[in-house]
Amino acid sequence: MLTSEDIVYACTCDLAGKTRGKGFPAADMEKRLKRGIGWAPTNSQITCFDAIAPSPFGALGDRVLIPDPGTRVTLRAPDMGLSEDFVLGDLYTTDGQPWALCPRTILKTALERLKRVAGLSLQASFEHEFQFRGAGMGPGTGYALQAFRPNRLFAERLVAAMRAAGLKPDTIMKEYGTDQFEVTMDPAKGVTAADHAVILRQLVYAVADSCDQAATFTPLQDPAGIGNGVHIHFSFVDATGAPATYDPQGRHRLTAQASAFAAGVLRHVDEIMALLAPSVVSYGRLTPHRWSAAFNNLGIQDREATLRICPVSALSDIDIARQFNLEFRAADACASPYLQLAALVHAGCQGIEDALVAPDATEEDLAELSPEALKARGLRRLPASLDQALDAFSASDRVRDWFGAEFVQVYRLHKQGEIAYLADKSPEEMHRAYALVY
Ligand code: GLU
Ligand code: MG
Repeated sequence: MLTSEDIVYACTCDLAGKTRGKGFPAADMEKRLKRGIGWAPTNSQITCFDAIAPSPFGALGDRVLIPDPGTRVTLRAPDMGLSEDFVLGDLYTTDGQPWALCPRTILKTALERLKRVAGLSLQASFEHEFQFRGAGMGPGTGYALQAFRPNRLFAERLVAAMRAAGLKPDTIMKEYGTDQFEVTMDPAKGVTAADHAVILRQLVYAVADSCDQAATFTPLQDPAGIGNGVHIHFSFVDATGAPATYDPQGRHRLTAQASAFAAGVLRHVDEIMALLAPSVVSYGRLTPHRWSAAFNNLGIQDREATLRICPVSALSDIDIARQFNLEFRAADACASPYLQLAALVHAGCQGIEDALVAPDATEEDLAELSPEALKARGLRRLPASLDQALDAFSASDRVRDWFGAEFVQVYRLHKQGEIAYLADKSPEEMHRAYALVY
């Protein structure tokens, strides 16, 4: 009798923030851990819409994707309608060198820099919002048990799938927006935190599908509605594993290094936004009064700050120094989590190398301030479009130092290809296009 054979899908989360790869028989895993799978360099230029952006590689060349077995997700739950087997990995050249355009490798390089300049490791957790496309839950459903109830099956399957995949579920809710949910998980170290974000997005798609729903992480489905953010929480530990973000005597209760890191992120935020919020519709979300972020500001428990110092609670069983974390709110799920984290780490390391100090925290509605008042305080709007963000990204010598000239050139071409694909679309068609692919 013929029975079907297990296949593992080996993936990279690429420049488009899409998780793509190739499958092979699971029985070949050992071989594939050495040999990898072949990957064309021009695959980097497959935009989220599949149209291929101009590529310096053309039809030439080969790269090798080597799976990292620690990232493998195997979920066989036919009763739940779930059947997953995938693994994430790194891209190498055929002579075995890490490839300069591999997002996961780029993050590793950034984390090594953090160790070198500060002796610190990063811990992070990606908080995700998403919507069920066309679910039509209507008004009265914000955080409502009434709206959670019919989706309990989805939530319970998702939590089980996360746990089985090695992610630690934290909270799950019917978010405020129409048909919107949010899921949070415990922090993990460095590259694993980004792996978890990649895995979480896939689990949400898979579990939603098992419940006859279609999930979308698009930053803005309806321009008049609520956006889907990715809030990146991060903190530091030193070489001994001790928490290194909290100093009760420090500026805003940050250690000197965390304060410098925050200052670096805010000083360079314009230059890295194209990596953090990389779609055309990302910038509709990053406008005032959406509880996302619109200015280059630091806020204390302020949900409209680009960088927020998160609340801590004396009631928690976790001590304050370990709870204490910063949250970058101007990100979304159109990006590769590896590139998002790498961008934050490089900008933060620059702040540490330059011994910067965190700016004053804002407490008011910045949209009410005059341009002069903003300027006097060193505050400015984030880039207002992907075009603007790309200009700041490609004009930055710093970014070129951090990511390499080749990456900057290729990434810009990629994003220009994405923008060109949308050229003849109406705003409605454009929002719909993103909702379908993310
Ligand atoms: N939906 C908001 C965003 O686009 C975030 C709301 C919140 O959870 O604070 O980032
Ligand atoms: Mg939320």
